[in-house]
Amino acid sequence: MLDDHSSTTDRIAFAPALNIPDHLTGEVQSKLAYVDETIASAVIPASGDQITLHLRQPASPERQLELVEKVQRVVESMVKGAIKPRVQILEDHLDRPTPYRLDPMDTLLALGEISQEAEGIFSLGPLVTKLIQYFEKRFLELADSFGAVPYRFPTLIPARYLERVNYFRAFPHSLSFVTHLREDLDVIDNFAQHAACDVHGLTAPLESFAGIQNLLSPAVCYHLYFALADKPLPNGKVVATAVGNCFRYEAINLVSLERLWNFTMREIIFVGSKEFVLENREIARQRMSSVLEEIGMAYRVESANDPFFIGEFRKQAAFQSAFQLKFEIRASLPFKDSTLAVGSYNFHQDFFGRSLNISLPDGSPANTGCVAFGLERIAFAFLAQFGLEPENWPETVRVNL
Ligand code: AMP
Ligand code: ZN
Repeated sequence: MLDDHSSTTDRIAFAPALNIPDHLTGEVQSKLAYVDETIASAVIPASGDQITLHLRQPASPERQLELVEKVQRVVESMVKGAIKPRVQILEDHLDRPTPYRLDPMDTLLALGEISQEAEGIFSLGPLVTKLIQYFEKRFLELADSFGAVPYRFPTLIPARYLERVNYFRAFPHSLSFVTHLREDLDVIDNFAQHAACDVHGLTAPLESFAGIQNLLSPAVCYHLYFALADKPLPNGKVVATAVGNCFRYEAINLVSLERLWNFTMREIIFVGSKEFVLENREIARQRMSSVLEEIGMAYRVESANDPFFIGEFRKQAAFQSAFQLKFEIRASLPFKDSTLAVGSYNFHQDFFGRSLNISLPDGSPANTGCVAFGLERIAFAFLAQFGLEPENWPETVRVNL
């Protein structure tokens, strides 16, 4: 029921069509960011029996009904028939004592250690950069322990690549598109003379822009799979590592260094037989566990799923959970009594092997898996646990800065 459906309002509260179970409240809430541009924020309490929308401008009664109807569609699609996944916890070190309890964001901004360019886009100063360099050193040691070979991948990715691995269906909401001015003297001259920015962004006729051939890449390991596509895998296996810029548009969910539009990922990637990939994913987890213990970070490793879009969510999330395809390193954020995924251990089965025709010596499709770390996020979680004064940091971090 709407609180108030007789006049315009900028806040709508109503009961969801189906009660939202607690394991889905976060997932549904994050998807409400994409429901309508007038939604400034959406809140679902843990009880899952209420949805509150805060709007950018007051909505008429008709608009309110329209918004509620769109939200109910999301709820039905994600909740109806959803099965609660059994959360598997592989490591639990959330109770490790850490010295800091404040939100590092305000101080980082005040000190100029980070500066915000736009929503989800940050520049990082020396403190965070050095911390990221430290973690990168540890990740590279981990990669070396597998004899991983280094790669460098582009920031752009062809649309036809993403199409081939079903990305448009699974994650349409987070795509970032790239274009350029059409090769036409009049168009370019016109742009040069008239282009300007207003509150809505760049003002230029849409016809000035070329069709979209490329996007900003959402992940690192895809590039390796495309490089290996349509041929037999040399020696039947590959272990590689690369770091790269990744882009996932997260709408109003973009807050602080926790959730960025433009972030950096270090990946260690395994391609080969199922046994090879699974065994190495597990070894990587154990080796990383020692690193995190040495640093003294509070975290836990638990089963997870990718943020599939509404229509694909239920089936795909259940599939990932049933086959234990994804585990996340969730670091404690003491200031908000919650956790943040700073890395993931992924197994894709033979999905990329089949989609991209990467074959093992016996002709069967290759299996793939990756270990992925979010560099800004691990630095942020570290600062949230240990504070901004290097003298309060664990010695192993200080001596390696
Ligand atoms: P995923 O492939 O989704 O498991 O991502 C790997 C890691 O990248 C996550 O564990 C995060 O640390 C990081 N990451 C993913 N999305 C974002 C984001 N929007 N902002 C910052 N870091 C992210
Ligand atoms: Zn990956």
